[in-house]
Amino acid sequence: MPNVTAFPVVGNVTYTNDWHDPRPGGWHEGNDVMSVRHQPAVAFEPGWVEKWSHPGGALPSCMLVLHGKSGMVYWYIHLNNDRGLDNDNKAGCRKAYAPGLDYHDHVSRGQLVGFVGDSGDANGIQPHLHFEVHKANGTPINPFKYLNDAKHLLFPRLRPGLGDITVTLKGAEVVGKTSSTITVRTKRVVVAPLGLSFINRRTVTFTVPVDAEIERKGASGSSSTDVSSAQVGERTRVTTITFAPTWTQQKAPAESLTAAKILLLG
Ligand SMILES: [Zn+2]
Repeated sequence: MPNVTAFPVVGNVTYTNDWHDPRPGGWHEGNDVMSVRHQPAVAFEPGWVEKWSHPGGALPSCMLVLHGKSGMVYWYIHLNNDRGLDNDNKAGCRKAYAPGLDYHDHVSRGQLVGFVGDSGDANGIQPHLHFEVHKANGTPINPFKYLNDAKHLLFPRLRPGLGDITVTLKGAEVVGKTSSTITVRTKRVVVAPLGLSFINRRTVTFTVPVDAEIERKGASGSSSTDVSSAQVGERTRVTTITFAPTWTQQKAPAESLTAAKILLLG
């Protein structure tokens, strides 16, 4: 079992210990992580990937297999096959995987590998990740403890060729401030350069350096202000500096991320 792992879906999820529940044609060999269409799926541990697209039946089943460095193997099933926000079944497996992810690519822990969906025999039901854990000899084991022990991330890491990232929190709400920090309840997270956009509701405290650009938007336009003018309960948009994220920053503990721009929206 690998030491410290990344929860395979970024964002708010629910799951239960549904291992070996009776299902049509046999037992349930994984846990269903209930989520939202297009949420990022990330590598549970470092390893290399295989993309499996099964065209069988009326609709493709878009899967990913992660061969972990520890020797364990993880199956990501029902990845996205929709082009838009609805269940249109129009993308095949073209929007199932991280852009540019190639067969046999090596990935780091917490790196974007794909997107949650309802492909294959999950068509039309709530998008979720069917997650399986297999021992090196192929035997599937109950993922529940693995999921419970994994760390939930604020955002995925992108593949190395894409360079540094900028994270913008849209629709966030101020829940606290000091002269050098702001604490917000997040809602939508946008990651550049890919323009990944997904919902992730949690509380994050940012460091606000003295040179951060802080603006208040009023009826007569925007005016420059400082972080102490932020009001608890007001809406805000926070943009980070452009940075190469560490594993710790992906988990976003207090003051691990630095704000470059804060827009206070009243
Ligand atoms: Zn399942």
